[in-house]
Amino acid sequence: MHDLIIVGGGPIGIAIGLEAQKAGLNYLIIEKGVLVNSLFNYPVNMQFFSSSEKLEIGGVPFISKEAKPKRDEALEYYRRIVSANNLNIQLFEAVEELQKMGTHFEIRTVKAQYKSKQLVLATGFYDIPNLLGVPGEDLPKVSHYYKDPHYYARQKVAVVGASNSAIDAALECWRKGAEVSLIIRGPEVGKRVKYWVRPDILNRIEEGSIQAYYSTEITEVREKELLLTNTENMTQFRLANDFVLALTGYQPNFRFLDTLGVQLSNDGLKKPHYRPETMESNIEGLYLAGVICGGMETHKWFIENSRIHAPMIVNDIVNKLKKKPVYA
Ligand SMILES: Cc1cc2nc3c(=O)[nH]c(=O)nc-3n(C[C@H](O)[C@H](O)[C@H](O)COP(=O)(O)OP(=O)(O)OC[C@H]3O[C@@H](n4cnc5c(N)ncnc54)[C@H](O)[C@@H]3O)c2cc1C
Repeated sequence: MHDLIIVGGGPIGIAIGLEAQKAGLNYLIIEKGVLVNSLFNYPVNMQFFSSSEKLEIGGVPFISKEAKPKRDEALEYYRRIVSANNLNIQLFEAVEELQKMGTHFEIRTVKAQYKSKQLVLATGFYDIPNLLGVPGEDLPKVSHYYKDPHYYARQKVAVVGASNSAIDAALECWRKGAEVSLIIRGPEVGKRVKYWVRPDILNRIEEGSIQAYYSTEITEVREKELLLTNTENMTQFRLANDFVLALTGYQPNFRFLDTLGVQLSNDGLKKPHYRPETMESNIEGLYLAGVICGGMETHKWFIENSRIHAPMIVNDIVNKLKKKPVYA
């Protein structure tokens, strides 16, 4: 029986494992993919909006070439933390079922069964994209993930979305020779776009390098074109198209929260219930950490402000297990 099992080997799951190790707990991190799977799947040239010290976990310095690190530097950093501390982590082992049995939890993965006194869900939000919900969305030319601009060189690419991921992709693809259209549901480029990127995209739109369609939604994706609707005057028009990058955000997987009985807010945001001073949910022994804590408000928690969940959770567990608190 483990003291603690952590589902998800993202930055926050790793941070919790690191604290658990320091506290002498018998813990295990279970990750369905590669180490920091979400970060691995981010765009290859992605640069964090946070400076490197704000992505540090366990007090380990994160050195990067520029103030804001790139994806490959973050992979290196979190990988070094895991290997230098020999953290107990199982990779490529998806958790399939979670159950509370009396005072402990039973965890069934694709490979094994485990028992644990405490459980942390740190499963992030990057596995389930928010769909457009239009005919043709399942065509192979449509992707909800963006990886590398080279793929789109000399192609007609429609980027859907107005936030950081969409704007970064639009700029990168245009710079590698794609003909980029930006399909934006609202009247303008998102207000949360990084302050140093916003002028870049606005200037590209103004000079006509990137064509922006505001107050516009895709009505249908077809093999060689898109059917678009201007939602202000409800006119429809067609746009020649080779690829669609639908970067309209992601949502956490609520399945484990539901099956374990975690209360969710009924305001449409599905915010899970937890005690903010310990991160323990309404189910005793079940803790929530990282981006999953925001429900559908996926911009609320990120690495920078949720790495603190790690010492909070471990301290509470240590107190419960009647050992000396590590963070008194
Ligand atoms: C393009 C982009 C740029 C960003 N830039 C920044 C930034 O500059 N600063 C910042 O602070 N944040 C940034 N974020 C947000 C940040 O990446 C996330 O908030 C962060 O990854 C959250 O960490 P996490 O550990 O909670 O979740 P994740 O990193 O998503 O980790 C969750 C892990 O759980 C695993 N998992 C899921 N389901 C299962 C299962 N059933 N069984 C086993 N494992 C499972 C996943 O594979 C994944 O590895 C950015 C996000 C994006 C998309």
